[in-house]
Formats: sequence, structure tokens, C-alpha cells
Amino acid sequence: MNKLLVILGAGESGVGTALLARKEGWQVFVSDKCSIKEKYKQELEQANIEYEELQHTEKRILDADEVVKSPGIPDNVPLVKALKGKDIPVISEIEFAGRYLKGGTICITGSNGKTTTTLLTKHILRQAGVKVEMAGNVGISLARQVAEGCQPDWWVIELSSFQLDGMYQFKADVAVMMNITPDHLDRYEYDMQKYVDSKFRLIQNQTEKDYFIYCWDDEVIKNELKKRRVAAVKMPFSIDKKFEAGAYVDGGNVIINSKREVMSISLKDLSLKGRHNLYNSMAAGIAAHVLKLRKSFIRESLSSFKGVEHRLEKVVSVRGIEFINDSKATNINSTWYALECMSSPIIWIAGGVDKGNDYNELAGLAKEKVKALICLGKDNQKLLDAFGEMLPVVVEAQSMEEAVQKAYTLGEKGDVVLLSPACASFDLFDNYEQRGKLFKESVCNL
Ligand code: ADP
Repeated sequence: MNKLLVILGAGESGVGTALLARKEGWQVFVSDKCSIKEKYKQELEQANIEYEELQHTEKRILDADEVVKSPGIPDNVPLVKALKGKDIPVISEIEFAGRYLKGGTICITGSNGKTTTTLLTKHILRQAGVKVEMAGNVGISLARQVAEGCQPDWWVIELSSFQLDGMYQFKADVAVMMNITPDHLDRYEYDMQKYVDSKFRLIQNQTEKDYFIYCWDDEVIKNELKKRRVAAVKMPFSIDKKFEAGAYVDGGNVIINSKREVMSISLKDLSLKGRHNLYNSMAAGIAAHVLKLRKSFIRESLSSFKGVEHRLEKVVSVRGIEFINDSKATNINSTWYALECMSSPIIWIAGGVDKGNDYNELAGLAKEKVKALICLGKDNQKLLDAFGEMLPVVVEAQSMEEAVQKAYTLGEKGDVVLLSPACASFDLFDNYEQRGKLFKESVCNL
């Protein structure tokens, strides 16, 4: 009898895993407590894969030899506890799909900058003619791509902490850690160390043949490294400090240095602007450099990259007021960088579902740069408490259209209207993409 793989959660990664597992000869059962999207049900039926929705049949699930859990399901729900109590391994999609990969892996994690750096790294590799595909937290799941026979020479994989939590044997050939700032602490018992430990699973199983690229300017990463032994070759990047192996800023240039070779690129030529994006460019540049890609390709690709939707995306200027969509800023740190890199007076649209934010961290920048705050959430009390007395104008809005209209009325020529919520979106919107799209639509309707 073939081994039984149970998959909890029938989203993109769960269905991808089911298809791959079936192809690899597993017996498969998919269970989702919510309703499953029609297109996924059809796929499961076509592949003759058993599934259930709107329930978890515990008896059946506890019969599994192994379980792949969607990153959306927390570890502390009774079913997952019961599985662990019976010593049934509970892993993530990437751990499962990783067993069937032929190519090398560049794995990128961090609290912010993962998607941008993943796309940028893929862009550089593609431009250099490398057979590369992207997976993880973005787009089509890794498991589905492997099930469909996709086996490039290199994978660029974006990893969230929830995916890392279910990873045990998987090894990253090149590991990239952008930063660690408080996020998702609700899933880590509000214990920052647990979140840090989760992120550091990225480098478990690495050997001296592998690379660990990380941000030296990030205090949390730096302190954690004092406690850990790292097997891989370390390649730090920094704006403040120079390295023999790694990347740094020297005058007007970024220098990428390995003991083998040095390359430099002018800051002016980097297509992604702002301090946070400089980190993203350095990280992707080192990853390409350790793969020994031609310097000219790396340089050209870092200057031709077109940015990513919903990340400091310029929408349009209306009556001299510029509108910027940073809907993907769902935590304090990403909004900090957005405020930091604005050079005009800001009308700031923020709010939504707060994941334990400490708005004090934004107080300095807000006082200096924000002329009006529009609180866009079902419950704006925390924002009102933090900024109500500090900023000249603080108003509330209950829809994106209303927020944009108010911002436009408050704005003057030379101002910038910045949607950078520092919060998740699901109180008023389906997700950050919908929030960003509605922002752009409302701006275009002005
Ligand atoms: P992630 O995939 O980690 O959520 P994204 O690349 O989607 O990261 O960017 C999310 C938000 O964080 C955007 O608002 C973006 O402007 C901002 N951001 C991007 N890179 C960084 C970085 N290195 N540090 C801090 N914020 C960043």
C-alpha cells in the first residue's frame, strides 16, 4: 500500500502538493475547513484525488504517514497538536517539493523585501541566460511547477516564516536574509525570539559549499549571528561597513566583492530607488555574483529592472499631487522606509488590521514629513491615539474612494499622497492587491 499524504488547506500550495504527490505515487487526501475554489476542485477531481471541504475528518487525517500543512494554518490549532502528539510529521509544501528538485536553490526570506528581491534576482539570472524559475510565497507554487515537469537549473524561492516553520531537511544553496523586524508576532506567542528562530531555519543544513547573504545593518540579525555557528560562506551587505566578501557602498558606487572578483555599479544606475531598495539590489547582486554570472549582465539587470506592483508604485500625478501605491506595506518597518524615502510633504493613508504595531517607531518621520493622516480602517483608534495630537490634520475614511477623495481635497501642488498602511488589509479588502487596485482606480477617477 502506498504511503498516505494528507494535505491541510486546498489553496495554490496545497493543490500543487496534491498533484505532485499523486505523480510521485503517494496516496493523497486533501482536507480544507473552508470551501475550496471551484477551479481547484476541478483539478483535484481530474487527477482523481480525494478531498473534503468545510470540515476536517480527524480520524482520516490522523491516519496519515505525513502531513503537508498550508502556511495559513497556525501550529496551535487542536488538529495540528493532535498530529504532533501522534508523531506524524507536519511539513510545508516547500519541504515536500524540495525532495523532487534537480536544480540549485536561492532562498530569500526577511520581514520585508522578499518579493522585490526574489523578482530582481530572477530578472538578473534570466538576463544572463540562466534557466531559472521562481516560486514560494509568490505566484505558482513550487510543487505545481515540479509536478508539471519544470526543472530549471536554478530556483529562486521566496520563503515566509510560516513556510520555514515546516522545513526540516531542505537545504538552501544560497540563502538570503533581508531583515528581521517584528511581524506576525501573533503566530509566535508574541515572542520575538521564536520569530527570529523561524527565520534562521533558512540556513539549517547549509554546508561550507553554500552561501549565506545577509544584511549586516540589521541589529536583530547581527545579534543573532553572535549566538550561532554558520557553516556556509558568509556574504554580508551593508550601507555603513565595508567587507572583503559581500557588498557595500563606497562613495557613489555599490561594490560587490568576493575573494575571487570585485565589481562595482553606480548608485545612479540602480533602477530601484530608496534606501530599502539599495539593500534589495545588493542582496540580489551578491546572489548573482556567487553564481559567477558575468559582471556586465549583473550591472545591466540591476538598472533595467521595472519594480513591482503595490511596492512604492508611482500611480499618476493629478494637479501636481503625486499618488504612490505602497499597499504591500503591511507592517511598521516597510512603512518606515516609505516615509523615509519621500522628499515632498506627505498625505498619508494608513490603517487596517494591526498586527501588534508600535506607532512610536514612526513618530519621528511622521512629525517631520506628514501633513495629514487619513485613517482607513474599521477600527482606527490606535492610529488616532498615536497621531491625533501630533499631526496637523487627522481624519477617518471608511472606503478607499472616500480616502482618496479626502487626500485629494487636502493636497496641494508638490505634495505626495502615499498609501502605505502599515497594517493588513482584510478588514475592508480581500487582500493588499485589491486594496492597491482600488487605490489606483480611485485615483484615476479623480
Ligand atoms: P515582502 O515580500 O517581504 O512582503 P515586498 O518586496 O513585497 O516584501 O515589499 C513589501 C513592502 O516593504 C513594500 O511596502 C516595500 O516598499 C517595502 N520594502 C521592500 N524592500 C524592503 C526592505 N529591504 N526593507 C524594508 N522595507 C522594504
